Amino acid sequence: MERVRNKLKGWKAKFLNHAGKEVLIKAVVQTIMAYVMQCFLLPSNFCDELCSIVGRFWSYDESKLENLFSNEEVKAIMSIPIGGPLVKDSLIWAASIDGGYSVRSGKSCTDPSPRVALIENKGLWRSIWGLKVLSKIRSFMWKLCHNIVPTKGILARRFHGAFRASDCCPRCGNEVESIEHLVFFCPFAQDVWRASSFSYSPSPLGFPGFSKWWEKIFEFRNFGNFEDGSALIAFLLWAMWKSRNGFVFEGMLDSPWDVWNRAESAFMEFSCAQSKDQRNNSPPQPKLSTWSPPLAGITKICCDAAFNKLTGKAAAAAVAHDSTEAIVHGNTIRFLASSASSAEASAIRIGFSLALNVGLENVIFESDCLGVVNRLNSGVLSAWESAAIEEDILSMASLFSSFSFSFIPRACNRVVDWVAKNALNLSCPVNWVNNVPPGLRPFL
Ligand SMILES: [Zn+2]
Repeated sequence: MERVRNKLKGWKAKFLNHAGKEVLIKAVVQTIMAYVMQCFLLPSNFCDELCSIVGRFWSYDESKLENLFSNEEVKAIMSIPIGGPLVKDSLIWAASIDGGYSVRSGKSCTDPSPRVALIENKGLWRSIWGLKVLSKIRSFMWKLCHNIVPTKGILARRFHGAFRASDCCPRCGNEVESIEHLVFFCPFAQDVWRASSFSYSPSPLGFPGFSKWWEKIFEFRNFGNFEDGSALIAFLLWAMWKSRNGFVFEGMLDSPWDVWNRAESAFMEFSCAQSKDQRNNSPPQPKLSTWSPPLAGITKICCDAAFNKLTGKAAAAAVAHDSTEAIVHGNTIRFLASSASSAEASAIRIGFSLALNVGLENVIFESDCLGVVNRLNSGVLSAWESAAIEEDILSMASLFSSFSFSFIPRACNRVVDWVAKNALNLSCPVNWVNNVPPGLRPFL
């Protein structure tokens, strides 16, 4: 058993293609047992273990999996990152990064608080915090979307649990002052919308609620004559709220046109200031790259992965540069992955295979995934999702005369970023090193 294990360990499965692996198993590994098996009936658990060692080396047979499991299950199995023979199975707690259980991570699993739910809605989150408006208006939009702007209706619900006559809209007195009433359905609000360049009149029938409405608006934000309609709408909503407060606290009576004009001029002023800022701050062609080629005799291998969370598909690329900055080697593969960090770790493993295949001795491996780089440098493999791959990388490290892992910002390596992304969507050919696709040329 030990001899079989040593054979497979020594050969390093990753450097053989399927045909090579087949030869190794049939001609080398299986013959070790042939003589013994002629004389003795081997115990069945011994045979099982032997099969599992060879099976692990050969990797999964996808067609067998397809016969046994559903498509979803096959995908999940195929995305399990497989480490080398030294990596042992262990129990992990999937809800934390380091795979260890903590009360906090347990609580967040059983009791998803509203804050967690909010972050999950990335579209809404981006639609608020990505808005090009004053920061006070951004946080006002956030409050509107979470129904926590202190209108009379919201305060009444929070402090009295029921609505009283005094919780009605201070302008029209017709309805409880909710956010929707304040900015859409109050006759005054409707007049403001009509006075605006949006000429919009929302109907209370089937109205989805403010945050859903805002998400829709954000999707179509380039409507109207304005480049970014959603920013102008945010200024308008803010102006309505200011006007309402002026009315409630200071008795100021604005006309709907006052409110619209104020919103529009604040928006214009802000946009002009922004574009002036941009003109002053950005030099014509900012040089993004601070990357430098390695010293003579050393190779830099940049590794990067692209991962599609929805499909589980991933692509990883490794690009080797010599001291003249030229690309000397490259490698790309597509695979299934379980997480972005395991895909990034796989990219470094592909860099390793590339270096070993072409016989490089002094190598610097670069990645834009700080977590993986830190773990490989410290040797503390705390993230369970990629731990098997990282252990595998470290076990191969002794094959180099010198090596190091370093972090580079994504902007510094556009080539490998481009290759990984385009390999994922099948628009980068496998032989891209010898046949550079047009899309890649601008980055060379
Ligand atoms: Zn009203």
